[in-house]
Amino acid sequence: MTELPTIFRGLIGQDRAASMLAAALAQGEPSHAYLFHGPRGAGKFPAALKFAAALCCEQGGCGECPSCEKAARGVHPDIEVIAPVGSFVTVDQVREINRNLNLRPHESRARVFIIRGAGSFNSESANAFLKSLEEPPPFVYFLLLAERVASTLATIVSRCQPVRFGPVPAADIEAYLLEHYQVSEVVAPAYARVCRGDLELAKALCIDPDLPARRQSYLQIAENLSRGSWEGGAGQMAAAIMAAASRAGETAEAEEDEAVPEGFLTAPKKRREQDAHRRAGQAQRRELHLALDFLESWFRDMMAMAAGAGDAVLNRDYELELENLALPSKLGNYRRALEAIEAARSKLSYNVELELALQAMFYQLQEVL
Ligand SMILES: [Zn+2]
Repeated sequence: MTELPTIFRGLIGQDRAASMLAAALAQGEPSHAYLFHGPRGAGKFPAALKFAAALCCEQGGCGECPSCEKAARGVHPDIEVIAPVGSFVTVDQVREINRNLNLRPHESRARVFIIRGAGSFNSESANAFLKSLEEPPPFVYFLLLAERVASTLATIVSRCQPVRFGPVPAADIEAYLLEHYQVSEVVAPAYARVCRGDLELAKALCIDPDLPARRQSYLQIAENLSRGSWEGGAGQMAAAIMAAASRAGETAEAEEDEAVPEGFLTAPKKRREQDAHRRAGQAQRRELHLALDFLESWFRDMMAMAAGAGDAVLNRDYELELENLALPSKLGNYRRALEAIEAARSKLSYNVELELALQAMFYQLQEVL
């Protein structure tokens, strides 16, 4: 394994992707187009920024020179970040890239375009982009980021070298949270697991002042379900989700999918306002998934407890309640409860009415428990 350049340190739980990129740098033959793909919060953007810094740096990513330092602050003139406007990477954005493609680097040895939301090219913008992507000048690099290869146009995928980012392992997230945030050793494992490999979400959880209260209320709903009292749960949960989402919407202004250094936030104010509405919807979906994650963690714990594997319990501050409620004879019921939550999760990804869908889920949970 190639030793990682300094610059890749601090990339959490992505050793495989980092060593692949480091090897390309060490061999002196990086590809001119990469597709970083993997789930939200896996660290694609921070990795792209580090790789871009390494491509620009005279020493291949020392992490200390003025060039590396500018890259880290998001003010490097040879690193450009392009994000979809609304739902799409537009043909205008691509024309802008094409127009400037042959300009020499301002001050380093490369020019790097980081394109977020590479799944958001439409056929028009993709067509305009293909030639540049295929035959860029020798000093130009494209780093495309997408959650899924499958949702990215095949004509684009085929011209890029793929680099896969897996979900960040829960153990890495737990260690990171304990090191960088004031979370207790009791809740850190629960936080690390409910965010399902999304490190950015885990960080957001830790600085969210009322998360502990929300976690408690979602777990309380799960506990009530386990005691056979489910009435009002759906409404209660829907209200909690809406309240949390609207609070998040108010503070979403400065928030991006993954941490973006301030200097790259160059989008015109007007567009950022338009994005606020979209972000409010995202905040609601996010809170919903979080609520379902906590619900799920409860029933996983019930299974663990019922199976005599108390050590595996995630919500360690609820050990007593879990121990009192979990019955070995109901292992199958807990598994079906998890299936019902999972089914609701995929249904709720579409725009069905929140409370109705939650009611359907609670009804099912009552059946299986
Ligand atoms: Zn450097």
